[in-house]
Amino acid sequence: MKPVDELTELFRSRGLRVTPQRQAIFHLLEGNNAHPTVDALYEQARVDMPTISLKTVYQTVHDLEGLGEVDVLDLGTGTLRVDPNVEDRHHHLVCSVCGRVRDVPVEFDGIRLPIRHRRDFTVDAVEVIFRGRCESCS
Ligand SMILES: [Zn+2]
Ligand SMILES: [Zn+2]
Repeated sequence: MKPVDELTELFRSRGLRVTPQRQAIFHLLEGNNAHPTVDALYEQARVDMPTISLKTVYQTVHDLEGLGEVDVLDLGTGTLRVDPNVEDRHHHLVCSVCGRVRDVPVEFDGIRLPIRHRRDFTVDAVEVIFRGRCESCS
């Protein structure tokens, strides 16, 4: 994700609204590697901005996703997770107990679709999820 000031300019240049509420979401996501849910972002934003609405958080995340500045991931934790790390290709560790998610910056070159599936399927991305228990849950 771009730094907050660049995001602000990008949003304006695309005719998207930039409000203090939206900028608060930018700040919460900048450098955030916790893969927060939209609800978690909302709860964090409300600490400083009690008037922010959940809808604003959803719309801001949606706009960021549309610009390719965040990925919205379904990692099987029951809620969508927001990932601002779109620069470095990575996979994920997911704790099956608490839902904690961490980045795994590694390339798996050996993963190939078996030939018989390649005829009628074009692979755009391969995502690996390591499931288990984090330190606090094991
Ligand atoms: Zn855990
Ligand atoms: Zn990630």
